[in-house]
Amino acid sequence: MNCKADFIMQKCSILQHLPKAKLGYLPTPVIKLENLSRILGGPDILMKRDDLTGLALGGNKTRKLEYILGDALKKGRDTVITAGAQQSNHCRQTAAAAAKLGLECHLLLGGEQPVKLNGNLLLDELFGAHIHFTKENRKGEDIPNLVETLKLSGHKPYVIHYGGSNELGACGFIEAGFELATQLDVKNLSHVFFASSSGGTHAGLMIAKSLLKHNYELTGIQIDKAEGETISFKHHVHKLVNSTSSFLNLQQNYAINEVLLDKGYLETGYGVLTEQEKEAIQLLAKSEGILLDPVYTGRAFAAMVDKIQKRALPIDKQVLFWHTGGAPSLFAYSGAIL
Ligand SMILES: *Cc1c(COP(=O)(O)O)cnc(C)c1O
Repeated sequence: MNCKADFIMQKCSILQHLPKAKLGYLPTPVIKLENLSRILGGPDILMKRDDLTGLALGGNKTRKLEYILGDALKKGRDTVITAGAQQSNHCRQTAAAAAKLGLECHLLLGGEQPVKLNGNLLLDELFGAHIHFTKENRKGEDIPNLVETLKLSGHKPYVIHYGGSNELGACGFIEAGFELATQLDVKNLSHVFFASSSGGTHAGLMIAKSLLKHNYELTGIQIDKAEGETISFKHHVHKLVNSTSSFLNLQQNYAINEVLLDKGYLETGYGVLTEQEKEAIQLLAKSEGILLDPVYTGRAFAAMVDKIQKRALPIDKQVLFWHTGGAPSLFAYSGAIL
């Protein structure tokens, strides 16, 4: 590790003492989207390629799972359980990580079993996960029952939080924020954008930024409307950033207005593409040969492009898009992309 990286890691040395399962191929690259910057006539656009974390086609859940599964292994568990949508990238990366670590994996996916497996769901099956289709129970409501059943048959189950977004999951993104700081001069950055949906990415990046006293604006683009939830998504991220901070004994409390969340791009709801999102996915594919996904990064990237086109970002600074992965679900949405 170089000097700068050493200095940065000391900002949160407790991270180095948490048990970790090695799953990713890190650091992921930071690249310049030169063609796109030229086409948009905007600021320099950078991209942090967490779509290239390496585990089973990559994505942001890999970083969270390193800490979460490190904990599971330390506790001697032999089975992991998590829940999500049928095209959940989190479930796909969990299934692959479990395969690598020799853990049995159970996935609770909302809805009915489809006739044909595709995208992430096809990969879940390939990684040998046990898939339970839970119909209208879409958020893991059936997990307690499954835990009891598995215990009765002698398993030692470990439940992974929705989206991997608990304090341990957020630690993966504190480390990611530190990693970014070793790769570029953040003083040139005016904005960082990313898709925010279960909050772990957001909470971790906020903590890294504040420990390193960086000044760029860190904005999550909210992906779903969070209907039927008891608290707003912003409050959820706020709770998670503070519980992660106290979990790590960081003695820092964050105010709700420090959580920057843009709700301006989610009107069509989760997984329903807008024209702007389709255009953004096609624009990046055709200008840079890089894939976005139809649910998360397509929406967040379209939001950033919109802000550049409206001249809402300073032209003499750099902006960075944090690519969180998800391309395997393109195949499941093939009819909606073009
Ligand atoms: C899960 C996911 C996100 C959202 O990250 P959170 O930490 O859950 O907010 C963004 N993009 C992709 C591709 C994802 O799979």
